[in-house]
Formats: sequence, C-alpha cells, structure tokens
Amino acid sequence: ESNVYYDEDADGEAIAQKTVAVLGYGSQGHAHAQNLSDSGVDVVVGLREDSSSWEVAESDGLDVATPAEAAAEADIVSVLLPDTVQASVYEDAIKPNLEAGDTLQFAHGFNIHYNQIQPPEDVDVTMIAPKSPGHIVRRNYENDQGTPGLLAVYQNATGEAQDEALAYAAAIGCTRAGVVETTFQEETETDLFGEQAVLCGGIASLIKQGYETLVEAGYSPEMAYFECMNEMKLIVDLMYEGGLGAMWDSVSHTAEYGGLTRGDEIIDDQVRANMEEVLEGVQNGTFAREWISENQAGRPSYTQLHNAEKNHEIEAVGEELRGLFAWEDEEEESEESAEVT
Ligand code: NDP
Ligand code: MG
Ligand code: MG
Repeated sequence: ESNVYYDEDADGEAIAQKTVAVLGYGSQGHAHAQNLSDSGVDVVVGLREDSSSWEVAESDGLDVATPAEAAAEADIVSVLLPDTVQASVYEDAIKPNLEAGDTLQFAHGFNIHYNQIQPPEDVDVTMIAPKSPGHIVRRNYENDQGTPGLLAVYQNATGEAQDEALAYAAAIGCTRAGVVETTFQEETETDLFGEQAVLCGGIASLIKQGYETLVEAGYSPEMAYFECMNEMKLIVDLMYEGGLGAMWDSVSHTAEYGGLTRGDEIIDDQVRANMEEVLEGVQNGTFAREWISENQAGRPSYTQLHNAEKNHEIEAVGEELRGLFAWEDEEEESEESAEVT
C-alpha cells in the first residue's frame, strides 16, 4: 500500500522562503512555474537565450534568466526540460551552481535512475510528477481543482526533502487531488513500461493491426478507421469514468460476450511473454542505453520510425474523415461549456 498525501499533509512554510528555478517552459514547465508563482512562491524560469518561450514566460509575469543564472539564484532547481537534454544542461548549467542544501527536483526519474545525472551527496533529490500533461495541471489549478501526482525522494541530504517536496506538490495543486508516494526506480520503470507496452506502443499497434486486418480482408478503409480508431476514445472514456465494469455495462451483451471470449485470444500468452520481455529491457537498462545512444547518434532510427508512422494509411483516412465530420469541434465546445457551468 502506498502512502497518499493531501493538502492537510503539506506545510507551505517548507518552500515559502525559497526560490524555485523552473528550467524549461514547455508542457510541465509553464504549469509548475505559474502555479508556484500564484501560490506565492518565488519563481525564476530558466531558458536558453534564443528560446521562443522567453517572451511568453515574461508576458505571463515571470522572471526569466538563463538556466545557469536561474540555478545560481535558486534553492530548488526544478528540471522540466526534455529528458534527453537534462544530462547536458545539468553538466553545463546546474552542477556548477548547486550549493550544499539545495534541491534538484524532477517530474520523471529517467536521468537519475539510469545514472545520467549523478548529483553530489549534499543536495536533496526529489520528484513531484503530475500524472497529467502540463496544460491540464495549469487548468485544474486555475479551476480550484487538483491534479493527482507522484512523490519520490531519492536523496535526503537536509532531512527536509520530503516536507519540501510535499510543499512543492501543494503549490502546484497536486495535494488537492492526492499525491502517491513512490520511488525514482518504480516511477521510471512503470512509466516506461506503460508507455511502451500498453499506452502508446501497445494501443497504436493494436489499432494498426485491427485496421490492416479489416482492410486486407476487403472492408473499406473508412469502416476500418471508425471501428478500430474512432470508437477507441468512446470505450476508453467509459473505462476512465467507471473502470472496465462501466465499459462492459454500456456495450451490448453481444459485444460483452464477444469481447470476453475473444479478447484473451488476441492478447494471448505470447503477447504477455512479449510484455515481460519489454519490462525486462526497461529493468536491466537495455532500453535506456538504446535510447541514449540513439540520441547521441542524432536519432536515425527514431526519425525513420516517426516518418513511417505518419505515412501509415490510417492517418490519411482519419484526416479525411475527421474533416468530413465535425465531432472534434463539437466535443471541444461541449467540454468548454461543461467547464463554465
Ligand atoms: P517539453 O518538451 O514540453 O519542454 C521543453 C522546454 O525545455 C521548452 O521550454 C524548451 O525551450 C526547453 N529546452 C529544450 N531544450 C533545452 C536546452 N537544451 N536548454 C534549455 N532549455 C531547453 O518538456 P515536458 O514538459 O514534456 O517534460 C519535462 C519533464 O516533465 C520531463 O522530465 C518529462 O518526462 C516530465 N513529464 C512530462 C509530462 C508531460 O505530459 N509532458 C508528464 C509528466 C512528466 P526552447 O526549446 O524554446 O529552448
Ligand atoms: Mg514517460
Ligand atoms: Mg460495434
């Protein structure tokens, strides 16, 4: 059983007198910086001089400096840069500016867990990882709602790492919803496994295989797209709202019987064995090493795969159909009106 922390467990005093350098102003960076600042915490955003986000952060009312300047000024350095650049920015801009008792704060454990960043022993190393894209973290905060998150302490040099991390989580709105305690290892390994096996990799391959099976059997690409891609969202929404039960309850009994009997024939013992292999590659560092050297080589395989995926037939079919039907626009409108009321 994991510990879960809420607002009443956090004491804002633990960061009230501190300066937080938020490095990066992307998905997570803009949300953490603005939420911290609105919570009364002293924030400086760290960006490259030629960053197009520099003016954006300033117009959001925040102080901006280079990563090195921001790190020098700060007690807490929140590393919200792409995972693939964190190690080099750490060496160049953060490490020379870390003082004993400072905190390195992350939103994902990759670089610490796989030893790409090896912090000195006299700093705290913590993680507050919202389980949501940054714009949702910001929107929830503005609507007095919270975003669930994870908390981990990798290194506790000051003895205050946990209290400070909880105060940080409170200031970005996570303790309003609940913050689950974990470790850098567990967060990193489950995150990588989830996105590879189930969420991003697994689901995209399931959709493509289903689509190709129907099209190769002579069915129309439009029908295959609707069945295998478009309806996916409707099914996942039901699961999100009420678990598998809500999904099974709202589909027909025919769909329920067919799904319950055939699902495990599709995702069978072989797929399970494949998943275990993928997990092993995450656990033993094979995936991390591969991805780090892929980046060092200028991403040749990534680029090829990225482009091939874009050129899959289902993408062209989907684009055309989404243009013909207005469901996306309607949905955004109804989401917005739901928020206002
Ligand atoms: P983004 O890619 O959205 O943000 C990138 C930001 O970093 C930009 O402001 C960019 O500015 C800046 N940046 C990029 N390269 C450099 C560099 N070399 N030097 C200085 N600044 C640079 O990142 P995310 O918010 O997606 O990810 C940040 C962290 O949060 C990661 O650890 C990620 O795993 C984690 N995370 C992300 C989630 C998400 O939903 N996105 C969810 C939970 C955790 P510019 O290029 O203009 O200089
Ligand atoms: Mg991830
Ligand atoms: Mg149907």
